[in-house]
Amino acid sequence: MAEQVHRGRCACGAVTYEVAGPLRPVSICHCDTCRRQAGHQLAATNAALAALTIQGEDNLAEWQATPDAVRRFCRNCGSPLFWQRVGGSTVAIMAGSLDRPTGLSVSHHIFVAEKGDYYEIADGLPQHPHWPPR
Ligand SMILES: [Zn+2]
Ligand SMILES: [Zn+2]
Repeated sequence: MAEQVHRGRCACGAVTYEVAGPLRPVSICHCDTCRRQAGHQLAATNAALAALTIQGEDNLAEWQATPDAVRRFCRNCGSPLFWQRVGGSTVAIMAGSLDRPTGLSVSHHIFVAEKGDYYEIADGLPQHPHWPPR
């Protein structure tokens, strides 16, 4: 895969970022926490933490919904931007925050056991009740 620099930002622009290198295909999380925090499902790609450069990092707020992971979002506009496992070497980057064209596509759905009851998943892609099998 070609080394490409992707850029993204929150809705208000207080936080911008660049990520160099390959991005994983997008997974869509339907879990209760993503649904409530984002207002709907959350879509995320994934990259090496070392490949991510953040500008305006002071404007990021953090929330640990569970002790093992940190959600980072703009404290000004509230955009969810990053999800990191504590001590992990990768970072989930919310796909909606990336500038177009992303060159990405959705590969699967996770935590569909917790999905909202007001929509159907009809794209034919794999659906996992919780985390995908390793
Ligand atoms: Zn913002
Ligand atoms: Zn989730």
